[in-house]
Amino acid sequence: MNTDLLVVGSGFFGLTIAERAARELGLKVTVIDRRPHLGGNAYSEDEPETRIEVHRYGAHLFHTSNERVWEYVNRFTRFTDYVHRVYTRHNGEVYPMPINLGTINQFFRSAHGPDAARDLIREQAGELAGTDPQNLNDKGIQLIGRPLYEAFIKHYTAKQWQTDPSDLPAEVISRLPVRYTYDNRYFNDTHEGLPVDGYTAWLERMADHPNIEVRLDSDFFDESQPYSKSNTVGQVPVVYTGPVDRYFDFSEGHLSWRTLDFEREVLPTGDFQGTSVMNYPDADVPFTRIHEFRHFHPERQYPADRTVIMREYSRFAETGDEPYYPVNTAADRERLLAYREESKREKNVLFGGRLGTYKYLDMHMAIGSALSMFENRLQPFLRGTASL
Ligand code: UDP
Repeated sequence: MNTDLLVVGSGFFGLTIAERAARELGLKVTVIDRRPHLGGNAYSEDEPETRIEVHRYGAHLFHTSNERVWEYVNRFTRFTDYVHRVYTRHNGEVYPMPINLGTINQFFRSAHGPDAARDLIREQAGELAGTDPQNLNDKGIQLIGRPLYEAFIKHYTAKQWQTDPSDLPAEVISRLPVRYTYDNRYFNDTHEGLPVDGYTAWLERMADHPNIEVRLDSDFFDESQPYSKSNTVGQVPVVYTGPVDRYFDFSEGHLSWRTLDFEREVLPTGDFQGTSVMNYPDADVPFTRIHEFRHFHPERQYPADRTVIMREYSRFAETGDEPYYPVNTAADRERLLAYREESKREKNVLFGGRLGTYKYLDMHMAIGSALSMFENRLQPFLRGTASL
């Protein structure tokens, strides 16, 4: 086998490993991907009619407070000064998200300052004040009180997860801050922006090294393929970033995932909603949000009379669907532990990325954990000073 390392999956995790092994250690790396393009779910493409960059698998916003990751990603792309802001349309009115003083005052038709708003929310969360909520429903009510929770969170979450919020872990909502200021930035991180010439150019630059070969349309589980599981495991070190349950042939059962469906449309107007993301938190609308891609790049020259929108729908993944969000039920967590044990026993194979670890990793987390895996596990092994 004419390769020193096989990377299964060409998303951010896999490409970071491949780039480091090739550039830092001078190794020959083969990256395979089942799909006809690289980049996993971060892949983007220009919509053919308008040339507007569309994130095919849903909007990807890069943000990080990790200096090491920020320095690393800047080797491959520059970033625009885009700052993500989200609005939400409830009962025919548009409010800023995440919930902040602007949302609170608009919702209650009030002009509270931070202290008065805090008092109001405390009063409304009264039933659960001082408790340590274990599920999303209770956590939501405790954070913002019942009326705001029911308006902006309850149905949105039900649409996104199709699971009673009382059965979802409280952490899901911890991703969303509540602010007693008018700051409506979606992310709190030190660094934020979008790749100046798009995600695909960035991903291609990571793979652009004479020692890296990317083989698309190559399924690890397709036995007729030279870099299949049975042809490679035991012959060459493997970093596997596909679904961990698939690797072990679902021996411990299937891990459950949410998948997304997207409905893309070109509209004959230069601006449909005036912003990049509008959430739809009400129960009577079937989608969760609408993305309008031109607003991610106001610095670009896009057509003045056409725009591209994408409605996002969420549902349980079935066989053959793309996995997006780990559902993480109690049964899933038990299975995951069993798969982790099996992974440890698998010689010369490391598991990483969102699918390989069954963790909802943002892009910067996938890159950060790949850098750590490279340094702590792979580099010592490939230099011959440790085993995998
Ligand atoms: N959420 C909500 N209403 C919103 C936005 C988010 O209830 O308008 C909740 C929902 O439960 C969601 C979670 O917050 O699953 C995390 O949202 P985020 O926007 O971080 O999700 P992502 O963009 O990663 O899908």
